[in-house]
Parts: sequence; C-alpha cells; structure tokens
Amino acid sequence: MISDFTNNELAPVDMLIDKQGDYPEGLFELAVQTGLLGITLPQQYGGAGFDYAATAQALQIMAAGNASLAVTLEGHFKTIEQFMKYGNPELNDHYLPLATHQILAFSQTEPSGGSNPTGITTRAVKQGDNWVITGDKIMITNGGLASVYCVLAKTEDDQLAVFVVDQDMPGFSFGKREDFIGLKGTPVAEIVMDHIVVPDYHLLGQVGQGLEIGDQAHADARVLMGAVLAGIMTHELQIAVDYAKERKALTTPLYQLQVTQQKIADIAIAKQNTELLYQQAAKLKVQGQPYAEIAAMAKSYGSRSAVKVGDETLQILGGYGYSRDYPIEHLIRDARAMELAEGSIEKMNLEITKAEINK
Ligand SMILES: Cc1cc2nc3c(=O)[nH]c(=O)nc-3n(C[C@H](O)[C@H](O)[C@H](O)COP(=O)(O)OP(=O)(O)OC[C@H]3O[C@@H](n4cnc5c(N)ncnc54)[C@H](O)[C@@H]3O)c2cc1C
Repeated sequence: MISDFTNNELAPVDMLIDKQGDYPEGLFELAVQTGLLGITLPQQYGGAGFDYAATAQALQIMAAGNASLAVTLEGHFKTIEQFMKYGNPELNDHYLPLATHQILAFSQTEPSGGSNPTGITTRAVKQGDNWVITGDKIMITNGGLASVYCVLAKTEDDQLAVFVVDQDMPGFSFGKREDFIGLKGTPVAEIVMDHIVVPDYHLLGQVGQGLEIGDQAHADARVLMGAVLAGIMTHELQIAVDYAKERKALTTPLYQLQVTQQKIADIAIAKQNTELLYQQAAKLKVQGQPYAEIAAMAKSYGSRSAVKVGDETLQILGGYGYSRDYPIEHLIRDARAMELAEGSIEKMNLEITKAEINK
C-alpha cells in the first residue's frame, strides 16, 4: 500500500512539490484518506498499529518518492510517540483518535536558539486548575498544517514542562512560514501563544520532565529521519545507476568507467549503512532497549552522507546534474535540512561522544 501510494501519487509530483513549494492540492487529503497518518497509531485509537520498525521502513519507501511528505509524517509520528509514553488517559482519549486525520507537532525551538532548550522563554503559569501559556516557537515542522502542538515551556519556578495546545484555542495563532531551501513541501512555521488557557490534564508527563520528553522526542525522530535519509539515498542511487547505464563517454557507458563505479559504490554503501543504523535503532526501540545513541548515529551519518553522495550523483550526471530540471539538486537541499532539524549534527555528535565516554 505504501509502495503503491509512493509510486502512483507521490513520486510523480516530487519535482512539482519542490518547484511550487507546497503539496499539490488534494495530496495531503489523499494521504489522510489512504490512512497514512494512522499507521503507527494503536488500533484502539483507530490506527493500523504498525510497530516502529515497520513505520520507519514505510517512511524510507515514501522518502524515495518524495522526502517532504515523509518528513511531515516523521514529525507527526514522533509526537504520537510522546503522547503514548507520557500522555494521561484523558489527554490521549481526546487527541489520539484525531491523529488519524489531523497532524500533531512538537515545538521546542525559539528565536533565542534550538540547541540549548533551557534558555527558552515560553512561560506556563498555574492558575487554579488551569495553566496559562505565553510564548513564540519558531521553525516548527508542520506549523500551519498541524492542528495540535506539544510545546516546551518554563513554569514559574523555572522547571521545564510540555503542554498540549491546539489551533482552536483562544490566543493561538500562526506566524511566519519559513522560506527554507529544501523540503519545500513540508510546512515549517512559527506558532504564537498569547495567554492560552489549558486545563491541567494538558500537561504531558510531569512538571520537570520537559527536557526528558524533548530528548525522547529527538531520539524517536532521529530513527525516522534515518529512514527518510535512507530513502533519499535510495532515490540518489537510482538516479546515478539509471544515468550511468544510459549515458556514454563516446562509446563506453559511464558505468563501465572505474571512476563512475567508485562513485556508485560510495552511494550504495552510504545508503546501506544508514539503512542498517536506523533499522537497528528501531529494532532496539521495539525491544525496549536503549536506542538513542544509534538513532543519533543514523541521523548524523545519514544526513552528512546523503548530502555528500548526492554531490557524487550530481557529478555523474554532469551538467544535467546542475540543472533544476533534474531532481538531484533538490535531494541535496532536502537532505541538508536533516543536519539541523531534530538537533544539529554537532549536538548529535556530542551526544554520541558522551555515550561512548560513559560506557
Ligand atoms: C527543516 C527544519 C525543521 C525543524 N523542525 C522543528 C520542529 O518541528 N520543532 C522544533 O522545536 N524545532 C524544529 N527545528 C529547529 C531545529 O531543531 C533547530 O534549528 C536546531 O535545534 C538548531 O537550533 P538553532 O537553529 O537555533 O541553532 P543554534 O542552537 O543557535 O546553533 C547554531 C550553531 O551552533 C551549534 N551549537 C549550538 N549550541 C551548541 C552546543 N551546546 N554544542 C555544540 N554546538 C552547538 C549548532 O550545532 C549550530 O551549528 C527545525 C529546523 C529545521 C531546519
């Protein structure tokens, strides 16, 4: 089903999505009707109940057709995971059945910076049985498309906590949509919260658990981003192989030149390594074992590699590779986003080093 949707609906509009900077009309609605939003959601909430390894694999397949929609779903799925892990029954009964047809998003980054969340200024003030939330979040994946947002905020005693707000609440509005260079279909935007009042049960987990939940969301996201990156490299490999078979250097097909063979091997190895890393991380998560370090490796290695071997693919295509009439340049721009989103490559490498040193 995922392959059919990718081949019939998504891949044919890959270039269009990049050029028009949005999903074509009806595509997102079709994804909803096809049931894609609910694949990872447990059946009790109306989803298909895929485990995380299968969910990640589905995203790799989709990303080989178009990475923007795969990243939209990645943001949604990792947020569902936080409801499942930290949400109370009242919160989950209210929001999770909606997640089959409405997008959920996770909002941490503020204008002051994303790498160091303890510096956030969004405030949550307790008033009786409610919380009043005020602040700005920027660069939020699916901002404007999602209707439900988990937001990291600071309480009056400077503890970090995550609250759930939705777009229908008084005081909620959308700010600027980012004009990013890649993943042109994925909306990424600012959300503004002006004294939004939420009941106590909209607290995800406990006060003081904000950083833990943020780290958990990052770890879950990185497994899926590893899958998206493996999908982008699947696409790059296909482009490189097809072109090297068809194009000749005078009379010799490019693939018979050692210099091209070296490049194709590099692309294939990078794709395979990323696939092994994200699948291992997903498998460990499903088994209930620690997976954050391997997930960080999948995204760190995968994002750098997809950009690097994307450049090798561009070179195989010669001048055509440099043209916007061919997809390779946008695959490089798409992959580049993932050296930043869900934690910068530097932050991930620090986390990997810390984990190694503490072993
Ligand atoms: C496509 C895309 C989607 C995104 N989606 C979301 C989303 O859904 N939700 C959300 O909350 N955020 C989202 N972000 C924001 C993203 O998480 C941040 O861009 C990222 O965390 C880096 O934060 P920053 O941009 O403020 O850079 P800064 O934190 O200002 O960092 C700037 C540079 O300094 C380095 N640096 C900073 N601090 C350290 C440190 N302690 N150690 C080592 N190096 C450091 C960084 O690696 C980076 O190279 C998204 C970003 C992009 C590009």
